[in-house]
Amino acid sequence: MKTAVIGFPRIGKNRELKFAAEKYFKGESSLGALFAEGKAQREYGLTVQKNAGIDFISSNDFSFYDGLLDTAVLFNVIPGRYRELGLNPTDTYFAMARGYQGEKGNVKALAMKKWFNTNYHYIVPEIEDNSFVSLNNTKIFDEYDEALSIGIKTKPVIAGPFTFLKLARFTGNKTAEDFADDLASEYSTLVAEFENKGAEWIQFDEPYLVKDLTAEDIELFKSLYEKILGARNTIKVLVQTYFGDVRDIYNDLVALDFDGIGLDFVEGKMTYGLIERNGFPDNKILFAGLVNGKNIWRNDYAKTLAKINSLERAGVKNIVISTSCSLLHVPYTTKSETKIDKDTLYHFAYAEEKLTELTDLAELTGIEGEYNIQSAECYRMNRRLFGERKGSYDEAVRNRVASIKDSDYTRLPAFDEREKIQKELLGLPVFPTTTIGSFPQTADVKEYRKDFRKGNISEDEYKSFVKSKIADCIKLQEEIGLDVLVHGEYERNDMVEYFGENLEGYVFTEKAWVQSYGTRCVKPPIIWGDVSRKNPITVEWSVFAKSCTDKPVKGMLTGPVTILNWSFPREDISLKESTLQIALAIRDEVLDLEKNGIGIIQIDEAALREKLPLRKSDWNRDYLDWAIPAFRLVASGVKPETQIHTHMCYSEFTDIIPAIDAMDADVITFEASRSDYQILDALKENNFKTEVGPGVYDIHSPRVPSVDEIYSALVIMRKKLDDSKLWVNPDCGLKTRGDKETKASLINLVEAAKKLRADEA
Ligand code: GLN
Ligand code: ZN
Repeated sequence: MKTAVIGFPRIGKNRELKFAAEKYFKGESSLGALFAEGKAQREYGLTVQKNAGIDFISSNDFSFYDGLLDTAVLFNVIPGRYRELGLNPTDTYFAMARGYQGEKGNVKALAMKKWFNTNYHYIVPEIEDNSFVSLNNTKIFDEYDEALSIGIKTKPVIAGPFTFLKLARFTGNKTAEDFADDLASEYSTLVAEFENKGAEWIQFDEPYLVKDLTAEDIELFKSLYEKILGARNTIKVLVQTYFGDVRDIYNDLVALDFDGIGLDFVEGKMTYGLIERNGFPDNKILFAGLVNGKNIWRNDYAKTLAKINSLERAGVKNIVISTSCSLLHVPYTTKSETKIDKDTLYHFAYAEEKLTELTDLAELTGIEGEYNIQSAECYRMNRRLFGERKGSYDEAVRNRVASIKDSDYTRLPAFDEREKIQKELLGLPVFPTTTIGSFPQTADVKEYRKDFRKGNISEDEYKSFVKSKIADCIKLQEEIGLDVLVHGEYERNDMVEYFGENLEGYVFTEKAWVQSYGTRCVKPPIIWGDVSRKNPITVEWSVFAKSCTDKPVKGMLTGPVTILNWSFPREDISLKESTLQIALAIRDEVLDLEKNGIGIIQIDEAALREKLPLRKSDWNRDYLDWAIPAFRLVASGVKPETQIHTHMCYSEFTDIIPAIDAMDADVITFEASRSDYQILDALKENNFKTEVGPGVYDIHSPRVPSVDEIYSALVIMRKKLDDSKLWVNPDCGLKTRGDKETKASLINLVEAAKKLRADEA
């Protein structure tokens, strides 16, 4: 059997591409240097795949920022406001990704959203009525040629036209259907050009097919591909899906003239059943996504071989063993981990180890006879691994979860009563101003942390440094005039990893970086055993911050659902069970903060929506029914006076508003500035009770919003929300920003709130 990889990480084993890009953004290096790093990273990825013996290797899975943005730019879908800046093509591209503020103008970035059910974020293409779709650049061809030049004939990969149209935003009157013909003909041109180059395969990624599809969607998909497939001659086309099954379109999909169909057997609950019931055409190749592209656990060879056998029994003639999705979502290699003990590490497979799994599996399928398979070295090693018990078992934790009562999920008194008590006690002005928690993680912060980790400085030195940062941060916030202060989160590298490191049951990694968006990476910790909290985690910092000021200081925690969603989860117990374990640990922290005089506590659930099933029909049963209660469990033990905040970002919440209200927080802040405040209408329609702080400016960009801009946003918000419910804050934490722009932006934010208060008076 042959092997295929849908896509490979690109940010660099040591995040080289991230650093090169950031240097370029700061004007500290040339475009040439950035391009050279890009080339080095592409070569690295191609070479490891080739050396591992992968048969189908992708090209154009590389990107300087985001693949969907690349696709938009490839087809000339560049909104006028970015064109008008008159920048070179690369800077226009980065302006779309990050916004632009400089001598040529001032524009915000395009919106950014979570990529399906992952923690990767894509840039939302914007199609204007006068957008002229046309094949516009040569990146995809250049990268194909480049791979050829080092002896690798790749399958170029690109987001397919259907997924592209479904994820794009249409800013005028036209819709996807209006652009379908033009887009299909440009994709046809692309295919034709690859045919001329002698490419054998091209891969169109169509993950949108795993969502609930309407009859119109199916029509659109068919008409796009009838056109594209009808126009090609020799080149083979692989339609690649992932993150679920294609139950709404399976029969139409296999009836179309594709040569290869990529299906996900990991997250696609119904994938096997669809094939068994409906068959799979003999003249097509099934790219079977059997090696999980999202988790870091080793593949269970016995189970996977059994699946392959059953596919063969179901009559599938041609199988290629593939990853379940792009390996973009996992780190590079366990070889970079020097601190995890060997026995534990051996249970993990990152991207490069997954390549070996693919080729092991391919080899095993070529061996005749059960006995011979079982004697194969790689099979025996794998069996041994799965015979061992993973992780740690903690009786006390299991018992505590088992004895959670229904009443533990309810906070008393009810919201309205609490709201009154808190308003009176806190005495905040109307439209209170605050931030989301973190302040810039400047070079000194990172330096100190590194030195501390390396043992170059003592714990005392490190702590007093962090405290000096906190004291400065409090002073700065007082100066700026914010109402509810934060300690700045200088002690944390990351909102999830930090808690992971301070909880039992976690394994944390050194180099397991995964791209989150653009140049931002996260290093998810690994849930290895039962989770519990041994000691208070954040109390010392919050208490110190509070001692620096008379103003209220918010305690800052990460919620259980986000901790789970941004960790690599276990697979031996349910997500629900893991989340409840974490919830109990964070609940203890909440109560400790309260006991130590912290009267406002924020429990971030940035990633609440992340594991929401992609199909609406599965939302409640498979997710919200345990995720929302897990949050409630964390907060339900506090006094009525204690104000619980939560925060969410990046994703579409409009469709889960009742669930968010059901979290029963007192205040929620969320990312809003990049999405035109559509969510406010939905809040109003749903009679949202929780107080809200829709972000008034985008923190993903260094651009400083003007007072007027923030004020105008607030005026819109005021029309849709009750004055008594409206908070004023940025979109998200400020840790990726610099000191200067942060101060300037917050000064404007406070100014805008004051202006609004003056209107009211
Ligand atoms: N409190 C966190 C911060 O400010 C929230 C981050 C997030 O939502 N991603 O950094
Ligand atoms: Zn956020």
